[in-house]
Amino acid sequence: MKTKASGPRPALAALAQIRRKIRHSHHLLLLLDYDGTLSPIAATPAQAVLPEKTATLLRELSNNPFATAAIVSGRSIADLRKVFRSRKVIYAGNHGLEISGQGLHFQHPGALQSRNAIRRISSELRKRLRGGNVQVEWKGFTASFHFRLASKREAAAVPRLLAECLGSNQVQVTRGKRVLEVRPAVRWDKGAAAVWIRRHVNGGRNACIYIGDDATDEDAFRALKNEVTVRVGYRRSSPARYYVENPKEVRTLLSFVSDCLAEWWVV
Ligand SMILES: [Mg+2]
Repeated sequence: MKTKASGPRPALAALAQIRRKIRHSHHLLLLLDYDGTLSPIAATPAQAVLPEKTATLLRELSNNPFATAAIVSGRSIADLRKVFRSRKVIYAGNHGLEISGQGLHFQHPGALQSRNAIRRISSELRKRLRGGNVQVEWKGFTASFHFRLASKREAAAVPRLLAECLGSNQVQVTRGKRVLEVRPAVRWDKGAAAVWIRRHVNGGRNACIYIGDDATDEDAFRALKNEVTVRVGYRRSSPARYYVENPKEVRTLLSFVSDCLAEWWVV
């Protein structure tokens, strides 16, 4: 475990503080990103498998009456349900533009308005990229273009091709890890979604733990600044309070949280 001069602190060296936070709360809301957080990053989204031990732990946590688990991801809800199917979990897909589970249902109105335009952009770009190694994924509200398998030349051509397909549509293009995304031009991100979920779970009376690895998770770290926010991978400028090194350490942290909840239950 690295010790750094500033920025997020190692979560696994701050377990006593995290435990105190859990014990002083009425209810615990766990907000977890999927790719690179629960599941190790893979060459394609289809290959990003949830490790069995993590799935078991997630099931255990979501069955605990003092905790609620939510998966907050850039994937669609339909896709998230394929990788982890549970009635007890809240799913926030498309970076929180759609939320479902545990009696909650939300679809961002602005995203509903621009979904047809984004679908058209996505299929036009798919046509132009046919035969190459850039994967085009239409996710119901947003579209992703994955570069992991593409050559440098192929990847470099995508922004230009995409610009040609955008036309006069009001959308935003964002960049992630080896991925470009087209999203509706609305002020809504994982942070806004996390706050929305928090307000609707247990009357808002809950402590939160948010864990994520991507640029889009930084919005949630900022939105939940008094909570336990954990970045997967150290980045000095991150607003996250803590960090862990990898999805394996995420599992260690979740296992600790599960033990804390069990103790709390007995006490
Ligand atoms: Mg991620």
